[in-house]
Amino acid sequence: MTAIEQIAAIEAEARASLAAAGDDGALAAWQSGVFGKGGSLTGILRGLGALAPEERKAVGAAANLAKQALEAALAERRDALKAASLAASAADALDVTLPGRPLRRGRLHPVTQVRREILDIFARLGFATVEGPEVELDEYNFGRLRIPEHHPARDMWDTFWLDEEVDGRQPLLLRTHTSPMQIRHIDTHEPPIRVAVPGRCYRYEATDATHEWMLEQVELLAIDEGLSLANLKGTLQEFARQMFGPERRVLMRNSYFPFVEPGVELAVDCFACPGDNPACPVCRGAGWLEIMGAGMVHPEIIAAAGYDPERYTGFAAGMGVERITMLKFGITDIRDLHANDLRFLSQF
Ligand SMILES: [Zn+2]
Repeated sequence: MTAIEQIAAIEAEARASLAAAGDDGALAAWQSGVFGKGGSLTGILRGLGALAPEERKAVGAAANLAKQALEAALAERRDALKAASLAASAADALDVTLPGRPLRRGRLHPVTQVRREILDIFARLGFATVEGPEVELDEYNFGRLRIPEHHPARDMWDTFWLDEEVDGRQPLLLRTHTSPMQIRHIDTHEPPIRVAVPGRCYRYEATDATHEWMLEQVELLAIDEGLSLANLKGTLQEFARQMFGPERRVLMRNSYFPFVEPGVELAVDCFACPGDNPACPVCRGAGWLEIMGAGMVHPEIIAAAGYDPERYTGFAAGMGVERITMLKFGITDIRDLHANDLRFLSQF
């Protein structure tokens, strides 16, 4: 191999290893391997003095050309690595001037909000919150509430029956109201009793804007010595004022529920209009909004619980939470409440 060929080979090898050098450390090692004291090109340049003068000229020129070319290649490679590293850090960079991504905050379902508000009001009036099972015995849902098997009141509330029986005793059903918890509670507690019972109820119902097959109720039960209809009215009036505003008036009309005597329906005066506006979306001009059924606990129920009905009296009331939610927020279709459409629900 002539010296010229040797220079060409050194240059070719140096170019190949330069292309493989990926960082500053590799570049420094490459630089000393080519141009350093024991470097490949340095060896050639050192050997020039031993050559014949005409050969020295040609080899020297070739060596210098190779040196310049490799120095230029080194500078180029260094610039390329620097640019690549800048580009990589720019891709990772955090641009603190960008606007943040908004976090969507959740909220309570309107029915949950209203249920909690109802229970808070009754808690302030001295009622503890208790809950009962959603799958109920026929005995508690109907029988002991004075709704025997062929009672017409069952027609209104015919419901979802289960195939199982407990102890072979009687059928199970999804409760149609929260009233069975009245019986469960008086079976296990002594007066004075003041409880509010929230919970879901189920009815075999053709659904429309005001009827759903599942609804939430809050049941109220108070049993004590000397309770009268006046206590019921006062309690519900105070509830209506706290729920719908301090100016609310309440109206009691007599009604029938098998487990109370007498039974009443409670209405509040419309809070959305003076009471005479046929276009009012809340009362449609009726002026009064029925919000619950109530009454004095039937003496037979008190006696069946083992209390002396001459000594103890009580009142009970039940309200639909969806109904009150609709009144409070001006919602016109009950089915919207459980359709799970966030565009609707996030308004409340
Ligand atoms: Zn109205």
